[in-house]
Amino acid sequence: MTGRYGNFIAGREDFEGEETTLRSPADGSVVATVVLADSAKTKEAIDAASEAFKGWSLTSLKERQALLQKLADLIQSRSAEYSQLESLNTGKTIRQSTMMDIPLGIEHINYFATTTELPAPREILHPEFPGTRGMVQYAPIGVVGAIAPWNVPFLMAVWKLAPALLTGNTVVLKPSHHTPLTALELARDIKAAGFPDGVVNTLTGSGPSVGQTLVASPKVNMISFTGSTATGERLVSGSSGVKKFTLELGGKSPNIVFADADLAKAVKGVLFGIYLNSGQLCESGSRLIVQSSIRDRFLTMLKEGLERMRAGNPLDMETDVSAITTEEQKRKIEAMVQGGIDRGAHVYYQKLIAQVVPKDGLYYPPAVLTDVPQSTPLAREEVFGPVLVALEFESEDEAVTIANDTEYGLAAGVWTKDRETAKRVAGRIEAGTVWVNEYHLLSAAAPRGGFKKSGIGRELGLEGMMEFTQTRHIFVNEGGDIDDVAYGLVLPE
Ligand code: NAD
Repeated sequence: MTGRYGNFIAGREDFEGEETTLRSPADGSVVATVVLADSAKTKEAIDAASEAFKGWSLTSLKERQALLQKLADLIQSRSAEYSQLESLNTGKTIRQSTMMDIPLGIEHINYFATTTELPAPREILHPEFPGTRGMVQYAPIGVVGAIAPWNVPFLMAVWKLAPALLTGNTVVLKPSHHTPLTALELARDIKAAGFPDGVVNTLTGSGPSVGQTLVASPKVNMISFTGSTATGERLVSGSSGVKKFTLELGGKSPNIVFADADLAKAVKGVLFGIYLNSGQLCESGSRLIVQSSIRDRFLTMLKEGLERMRAGNPLDMETDVSAITTEEQKRKIEAMVQGGIDRGAHVYYQKLIAQVVPKDGLYYPPAVLTDVPQSTPLAREEVFGPVLVALEFESEDEAVTIANDTEYGLAAGVWTKDRETAKRVAGRIEAGTVWVNEYHLLSAAAPRGGFKKSGIGRELGLEGMMEFTQTRHIFVNEGGDIDDVAYGLVLPE
């Protein structure tokens, strides 16, 4: 499968600009050529979104939901193509694209196309001013610059576009230049579904050119950013003008296993938590915190589970281990693990995969490490790879202390059969999502986002939709004599 993709600006696919070739991390094969947008093209796209906002912001919720529904149906009819493209571009297993990323993305568009949760404008009374009435409306923000990372490109495009469009905004979407293909395919289907030109503009380009132009533009009213904490911090401090930011950033999420947990289920949840997408998920459960009394038994079970996972070509339906999406990311994983080993960390188990994965692909053998010094980046920072750091605890308090001993606060897992323990512990964890006897499951109805350095604002759910709105209050005098009282402060009788 190969294709050629331009940038989508004002409803037109634009092929002007430098072309670059994308190779699949799964096996090194050429997947597509894409045109890289620059700052001038980004300004064109911002102007198109700004112009389109004038009409789009006046459309009804019903019209916008009908278009979203049409879009979901179009993608559904081509879901196998989307899955193939997502796996070729990212190196994630075709089973994951086919059974999770693409169908979940379609379900999430369906959710926004049918939701009745968005609050209608509401009437209020002003107790201080009898004879007046107020109307509170939720207005769109304007042009949204949506900046996304490379790990779940289709889901990411959906999570940014669907709620922004639903609430009447127009968008310039910048997927990662490493993995823009499903977002560009989506741009074609957005056109085919009948969205007005300029409502969605999609650009492939680098952070310093396209991303920075979006952040700097006074015509962009909001930046919806997902990416690393380091980039997120840089964006906010380097931003000019007044604009809203939502930031979905990195994580170092704990997965806490109590001795009373259903261990067969917990071991699956911990493996799933860290090795799905080869650990390249913001909420990956990268720190196992296991109760000391079951530590050795649980580690043995983990090792057996990892042994059973099948490495191979991610494009085969039977393969369980995803590739690493970029060469740079692979080097980062290698350096962080080596850095930990140099300071005393012990490789408890690392899967042998070299003989069975395609030789021109990018892979890192899934690993479990113990005795990792808490001062090392391996223990404290996001690896974003298939690397599990195993820690242990004696008491519930200690488990919570270890779980919260990080600057991040994106997600966590708690495994126990005791509902009271689960509730108590979940309520003490500093994280935007806590799964109990579960991991990674995402619902479009549930807000997700981070505490601490994992972000500001929420994506999905009612809270996520409301991020794309601003409140307007209309104050109406219904003919009472309030004017005389108020105006009398400056006007003589
Ligand atoms: P990144 O921060 O390097 O890049 C993210 C996006 O920002 C990319 O599109 C990039 O081109 C752009 N960018 C880079 N520099 C920029 C600049 N100066 N101005 C404007 N834009 C700029 O992140 P990544 O390596 O692509 O993705 C991995 C990171 O994303 C991980 O830290 C992961 O945890 C995070 N992530 C978070 C969530 C979440 O929901 N919290 C979800 C997925 C990924």
